[in-house]
Amino acid sequence: MADNRIELLDSDITTLTVEAIVNAANNSLLGGGGVDGAIHRAAGSELLTECRSLRGCATGQAKITGGYQLLAKHVIHTVGPIWKGGRDNEAEFLASCYKRCFELAVENKIKTMAFPAISTGIYGFPKQEAAAIAIREARAALTANPELEKIIMVCFNHETRQAYETALKYNVR
Ligand code: ADP
Repeated sequence: MADNRIELLDSDITTLTVEAIVNAANNSLLGGGGVDGAIHRAAGSELLTECRSLRGCATGQAKITGGYQLLAKHVIHTVGPIWKGGRDNEAEFLASCYKRCFELAVENKIKTMAFPAISTGIYGFPKQEAAAIAIREARAALTANPELEKIIMVCFNHETRQAYETALKYNVR
């Protein structure tokens, strides 16, 4: 059963002891607001130095770096879509973010990882639809990769937790 390897946690993602945390980055990978800014502040300036060498990241893609001063050994930076009303393939781009993060995790033998609710802050993606996509992709990755031990979905606010709880309840495979 995949769902017993999915955990919802009310927390600040920068404080977690997991092998990798996921960053909801922007195309430049040079830092920004929200969770991106928090991760860069907590990891220290060496993260920005490594990110500069990556030359950005396309929407729906992901790149991995070290975690520097974070407890997490790695940061997986992914660029979610900006919500434009739902007619710009936002759902496909968001699903792609999760898929690429899981691919990078498996390639790097990462067994425990934590995600923020990608695109649901400044980028404006509706929280419930985003949670359904996140849970669907997490279940698929856990089923395909038995070596993945734990996926934490970080709930930074109450609406995000409710959205994940609903997705876990109703989005049964
Ligand atoms: P995006 O631009 O992809 O929408 P944001 O950083 O604005 O990214 O928001 C993504 C999600 O991360 C939102 O649910 C927001 O509440 C949450 N968030 C912001 N700061 C943190 C943090 N320190 N830890 C975990 N989640 C956070």
